[in-house]
Formats: sequence, C-alpha cells, structure tokens
Amino acid sequence: MKKKTGKQCDLVILNTSELLTLAGASHGPRTGREMRELGLIRDGGLAIEGCEFVAVGPSREIESKYAGKAKRVIDASGKVVMPGFIDPHTHAVFAGWRDKEWVMRLEGKEYLDILKSGGGILETVRATRAASQEELVTITKKHLDTMLLHGTTTAEVKSGYGLDFENEIKILKVIEALGEGHPIRLIPTFLGAHAVPAGYKDDPEGYVEAVMGWLPEVKPLARFCDVFLEEGAFNLAQAERILARARGLGLALKLHAGEFKDLGGVRLALRLGATSVDHLDYVSEGDMVEMARGGKKVQGFNPPKAEKVQSASGGKGSKVQGVTVAVLLPGVPFFLGRQRYASARVMIDLGVPVAIGTDFNPGTCPTPNMQLIMTLACLELGMTPEEAISAATINAAHALGYAHRVGSLEAGKRADVLILDVPTYTRLTYQFGVNHVETVIKTGKVMVEGKRQMSYLAKI
Ligand SMILES: [Zn+2]
Repeated sequence: MKKKTGKQCDLVILNTSELLTLAGASHGPRTGREMRELGLIRDGGLAIEGCEFVAVGPSREIESKYAGKAKRVIDASGKVVMPGFIDPHTHAVFAGWRDKEWVMRLEGKEYLDILKSGGGILETVRATRAASQEELVTITKKHLDTMLLHGTTTAEVKSGYGLDFENEIKILKVIEALGEGHPIRLIPTFLGAHAVPAGYKDDPEGYVEAVMGWLPEVKPLARFCDVFLEEGAFNLAQAERILARARGLGLALKLHAGEFKDLGGVRLALRLGATSVDHLDYVSEGDMVEMARGGKKVQGFNPPKAEKVQSASGGKGSKVQGVTVAVLLPGVPFFLGRQRYASARVMIDLGVPVAIGTDFNPGTCPTPNMQLIMTLACLELGMTPEEAISAATINAAHALGYAHRVGSLEAGKRADVLILDVPTYTRLTYQFGVNHVETVIKTGKVMVEGKRQMSYLAKI
C-alpha cells in the first residue's frame, strides 16, 4: 500500500474550474479598476486546517502538499469556488410579514404614505414587540437558514423593530443567541433610531434622548450603531447626536442615508468616521467625490482589528481617518418599483469603495438572497459581474470592519467557502433566480452540502 504523504489537514478542495480568491485587499477595500480583479486561478485548489485556510493556489501544488494526508478531499471539477457571501446590511430579526402592504403598493400607494398612516416599519414593530425572545429566535433561524443555503456566511443584523429599551435589547439578545448557535457569523448593529415610535409621535427629540440613554447598556450587545436619516424618521442633527454619543462609547458607526431624499448623510458619515454609509440612491456627485477622497486617503494603511475600528476615527471635528464604504442596496428600489438607483457606475469610476447588500426586511426588500442582489447590481447599478462579486465579498467585509478575517480565500483567514454548481463565475449573475450554491463551508466546517443544510453549531 502506498504511504500517504504531505501535510496533515482537515479539508482539501481540488480541480476547480475557477477559483476566485479575491486576495490582496485585506488592508483596504478594492476601488476603481481593482474591483474587477478576482484573483482568479483556473484549476485551483485550497487546503483548510481547523477554522482557517492553510494554502490556496494551483490545484497540483495543493494536491501534492496536502491531499495525501487530508481527512477529506472534495473534487470541484467543473465548478466555481469562491469566498462566502457577506451581507453587510440586514434587518433579519422581525415578526410578521406585510402581505397586505405589498398588495396596497401594487394598487398604487407609496411606501412613505403607508409609513405615515401607521403601517410600514411601525406595523412590524407591533408584531415584533408582541413576540417573545424565543419566538423571534425561531422565526429568525428560518431566515438565516435561507441565507446560508444561498451562500451567505457572514451577515450584519440590525435591531430596530423594538423602538423601546426592553424590545431593542430583546432583539439584540436574539442576534446574540443566533450568533452562537447558527452557522452564519452575525455582526450586531443597534438601530434604535429606525423610526419614531407611536408613543413619541409629538416628541421626537424625547425619543432621541431616550435612544442615547440606552447606549451604555446596548454597547456589550452591538458592534455598530446606525440611524435612519430620512424625512419622517430622523434629521441630520438628531443622527449626529446619536452617532457621536455611540462613537464616544466605542461603538463603530453606520448610517442609512439617501434612500428617499439626500439630507447630507454622506458628509456626516465621513466626518464621524462611519464604517459604512448605506443606500445612497439619492446623493450628490460632490458627496461621491468626497467619499472617493476618503477612500484614497487610507490606501495602504493597516486598519485596526474590527473591535478597535470605532476608536480609530478620531475625536470630535477630526478629519476622516478610516474608510467609509458605500453599501448599495439595489433590492430596495427594485422591490419598491422605482426607477432611481444608486449611481454605482459613477461611484466606482470616481474611486468610491462600493459594497452591496440585501437590506433584507419585510417592507422594502423581502429577499435575503445575495445572488439576486448581484444580478440587480449588474442590471440596475451598471456594475460588471466582477465588480458585483468584489462588492459582495471583500468590500462587504470592509463595510463590517472584518476584512482581516473574511471576504477572500487567503492563508490565515477564516475558511468560509462556496462551491457553485457553475463552470464560470459570469453564470452566477447571468442565470438569475436560481440558487447556484451547492456547498457552503463556514469556518472550516461543511454546513451545506448538495444544497442541503447539514447542522447547527449549538442547540437554538
Ligand atoms: Zn436598512
């Protein structure tokens, strides 16, 4: 019998049709032409030991060094292998779908009118408050399963359907419980300032004060603080007060801006050193230039670890010191039937670091499927398939301050890998409406195989 040679490892993948490594951008997001670089290796392979990649490269090299002693070898002939998708913007914890509102909109009602009449976010708030923590875990687990089956291995998840202290904490605890038990890596965001709750209708300032007062107790449960800057939600001054306080407590920042109107959110996000500013369907070209400038300034700098990102942004009134990533969410204008989308083409050509996400929520984007969002990015945002892939992986990791761990296939990073049942990556965005993800490996463990989920990490 032939003696097994090579280095010990847990899992080896060989013979890929295309291996998309997305390597070389862990220090800063890809911008401009770099967004088209996928680090493609034909007939590539990789080796995983424990939770990390130990080698990524040509298949023959990986085979000779690692295949002999590997616990398992997967032959990925005819398939694309790439990093797990990173969804940098979701509202995945909610109770109650809004079928009625969907029909109302088809009959001609506008989303902001529905919100004004007490529907929209506030309807989800009522249902989410009524659900217990355990019920929300069960409901959300189902959403996360769908996301995992479609290839999402890391997702940001926001609170924001509680809108009072007790319920916002309840939602953050749901995210915490699922973060421990579900295969998807969850990054928690506090979005207490998602809408002004009914009880504060005549006193929005009072609600802003309340949200600011909750921050110290929110801090251990959230990595980011976010605000919905929009007419009918929170204004620029309110957003600044909340975010500045959150930053002072050590939370990293995000901002919903330019979903319906441009209220100047980009400059606020840049000034406060937010990790991302999200939506941007309405934003001036001058602000896009500012964002590009913010991105270029830090090219080549080594970002601090995710836990420290927030404190990297300097004190009050300081200049931009970190990268603020534009997170574009084309599923929203698509689902709202609007013609206006973010000007991604202009942003990328200017050098703005761009990521894409679902905004998964029951009102404005009920799909958690990143593959569909990537097709929309090509069709409606004018992105190339390569740019859409960069935006859904490495740049999305930067939008979460987590690119030192995930977003590319490189030795030392967390082994989050997808095997797609397609021979070439262009098929992923071209043949839309189909789930191409066959296998999902998360932190070195096979979690989906043959398009079926295998297990959970813990009892949830
Ligand atoms: Zn959102």
